[in-house]
Amino acid sequence: MGHHAETTDCKAQRVTRCLRTRISGTSEIPIMATNGKAHYSNLQLCGSVWSCPVCAAKIAEVRRGELRHAVDTHLAGGGRVVMVTLTFPHYKRDKLEVLLDQFKSALQKLKGGRKYEAFKAAIGYLGSIRAIEVTYGENGWHPHAHELWFLPPVLDDYDSNTQLQADLLELWRHAALKAGFPAPSVEHGCHVQDAESAAEYIAKFGCEPSWEIARELVNANTKHSRDQKGMTPFDLLRHYLSGETSAPVRFLANPAQAGQLFVEYATAFFGTEQLYWSKGMKARFNIAKISDEEAVQESDDVAIEITTLNIAQWRSVLYARYETRGIVLQIAENGGHAAVHSFISTLKVAPKSRPKKSKCKPLDSVRAIKRA
Ligand SMILES: [Zn+2]
Repeated sequence: MGHHAETTDCKAQRVTRCLRTRISGTSEIPIMATNGKAHYSNLQLCGSVWSCPVCAAKIAEVRRGELRHAVDTHLAGGGRVVMVTLTFPHYKRDKLEVLLDQFKSALQKLKGGRKYEAFKAAIGYLGSIRAIEVTYGENGWHPHAHELWFLPPVLDDYDSNTQLQADLLELWRHAALKAGFPAPSVEHGCHVQDAESAAEYIAKFGCEPSWEIARELVNANTKHSRDQKGMTPFDLLRHYLSGETSAPVRFLANPAQAGQLFVEYATAFFGTEQLYWSKGMKARFNIAKISDEEAVQESDDVAIEITTLNIAQWRSVLYARYETRGIVLQIAENGGHAAVHSFISTLKVAPKSRPKKSKCKPLDSVRAIKRA
């Protein structure tokens, strides 16, 4: 959305400070250990669920817990949960921002219709939780919606998912056509799967492979599997970051294009809720409303201090090769306080920095992660 451009830039600037800039009022960077994993303290976290891999992983952990709680509670009470997936035909030339607006309008048309109301009554629909996701593949951007539907135990007319899927597809086709899409196909337009698929989806929700392992995976990935599945936005980001060293992807001209696509994605999704709980659902399952910014700070685990870095030491870590922040954490985990300080004494001293007055450019968030 064009009118979001300015705010997107501000958010992008927050991404560039994520895990780099101190929280104001602090004068050192403690390195803490939680369950044996080292992490920094006193650093700003951006809370960008769409564009920051570090924060997205933390937020996903909280959201997964919420989803799991709702589904488990409902199943334990004898209820039924199905996972509904809705998609529509699209083309390589389509702009994501346009597709996304059109998709949201199709979903509104579906849910606003009188026939849909009757359908909901017939299946005893109680509510749903929706995630809109996107991958990029052979036919360009592929937005799709996953919804967990909360239903009563069994209804005579809908004892199998087949009837449910057939009826819903009919409604979805009408809504999609009204929103200006070509008709969703019988094979792909609408899928209804049982609770097991829902549970599997929740278990994997927001789980990107960890940064280091992922980089190897991208390189090792067979072209075949990646081309078939399409790439997630963070796949695109990783492909951009690994540059010429990564295996070529058939539907991408080069890694630079992956960077541009990532920016297109981050801009299009900015400001969207990652999960949409239908009215009354959070209350039904006693889920507190936690913002992304709060979710990123959440942790019940006890952290123990391994060591602490002063400002000059932290600046030399940031000044060194981009993976140095990760290396320092590894050293802290394995060798503790003394090992960290002997490593840091080998780093170059960072030159005095002048306050930057940089204007945020579209690719800044991507570059920032490359530096990170
Ligand atoms: Zn972040």
